[in-house]
Parts: sequence; C-alpha cells; structure tokens
Amino acid sequence: MNLNTDGLVIKESATGEKDRVVTLLTRDLGVIRAFVRGAKIAKSRSVSATQLLGYSKLSIYRGRDAYIVDDARPEEIFFGLRGNIERLSLAQYFCELAGEIAPRESEAGEYLSLILNAIHLLEAAKRPQPLIKAVTELRLMCLSGYMPDIAACSECGGSGDGYMYFNKETGRLFCSSCGTGNHGAPTGIGVVSAMRHICRSEPKKIFNFNLSEKGLEELAAVTEEYLLTHLQRKFKTLDFYSQLIK
Ligand SMILES: [Zn+2]
Repeated sequence: MNLNTDGLVIKESATGEKDRVVTLLTRDLGVIRAFVRGAKIAKSRSVSATQLLGYSKLSIYRGRDAYIVDDARPEEIFFGLRGNIERLSLAQYFCELAGEIAPRESEAGEYLSLILNAIHLLEAAKRPQPLIKAVTELRLMCLSGYMPDIAACSECGGSGDGYMYFNKETGRLFCSSCGTGNHGAPTGIGVVSAMRHICRSEPKKIFNFNLSEKGLEELAAVTEEYLLTHLQRKFKTLDFYSQLIK
C-alpha cells in the first residue's frame, strides 16, 4: 500500500543507472533510506527529486527489504543555494544533523519543518548565517529531548543580568552571583535570552529575533558546543563549514 508524504533528500548515493538510493527526512516516516525507481518517474523529475536538498511530494511503499519511492513531485530544489558555498555547506550540515537526530520510521513533521525553514532562510540570505545555524542546532536538540534548563538560575531562580554561566554538560544556568567559572562558561545575557527564545517560541517565530554580530557568533558557538557535547560525534559538514568561515 502506498503512503503519501513529503520529504527532503538529506543524503544521496547513486547506484545503478535506473535506481538510486537516497536518505530522506519525511514528514510521516521520519528518516528512511529508499530506492528511487528511475524508470517509474519521468527522468527530469526523478533527478531533482533525488538530489541532495530536493524536497518533494512523495508516494512511497515498503518493498520486501527497503522503502521504494514510487512517485516524486519536486516542490523545491533550493537552486539558489548552489552558487554560495558557505550557505550550501551549512544546509548540508543541517541535513547531516537531521540524519543523526530525527526519528527513524516515525512521524517527524516538526523536524522537517524546522530544516525546511532553515534552508529557505539560507537561500533567501535575509537572516545571518550564525542565527540560522544556532536556531537549527538548539531547536533540534530541544525536539530530540535535550532541552537545556535555562529559564532561570539553577540556584536562586533569578533571571540574571549582564551575563550568566551556562554549563554545556548539564544544560543548567547560573546567575553571576551564584555561579563561578566552575559552573560553566560566562555567557552574555542577550545570548541567554536568544537561547530561551529558541527553546520556547512557537515554530513560526523561532528565527525572529535580533542580536549584535558578536552576540550571534557567541550564540552559534554555544549552541554548537552544547550539541557536540551531547551527541558526542563529529560532523564532516560542520568541520567543512567551520573551515570556510575562519
Ligand atoms: Zn542565582
């Protein structure tokens, strides 16, 4: 029986001339690997539907040992990203992250919407890259059960001023009176507020905030450290992106 859903290609690997294997982040099945039967889908459609960052309406069925994409109607191919290596590599990092974090073979609508919004914003180039990166990293962590406990100081319940100490291992926060360097890294209050915004806002509003350029860089560094500390692995695409923006 066919299932209709929509999904983004987060990894592509070519196989034979007719078939391709892709990893998809889908709304209804989460992360899946699937064969795309070239013969069944008109050639031009099949190409854009099966390349990295191709977002399509999909008809999928479960074969004997794999999912098979029966039909794909491309909605977005994010062509505008191809001309900018920084933005493209950041989008590829988001894909690699989604492949690591998003659920497998179960509903993942929020993950898909987050990644699509992030890639849209990257393509439009209307929001700073560190902002898009920080929101995507921290919100993905929240969705997958790693929401930091940053509403207030863990000791006194105060909301802090100037700066607070954020502990990336525990995800806890300490105000400047209760904390010391042993409690975590000093983090500007603007960055703390942005993190609260990212964790708590409704999905439509998570990218809507402003911070100085320096603040955004600090924010993106904090969310990256928090993510890497908890996932305990490296991301090739992140290493590549970091080299580019050095
Ligand atoms: Zn305190």
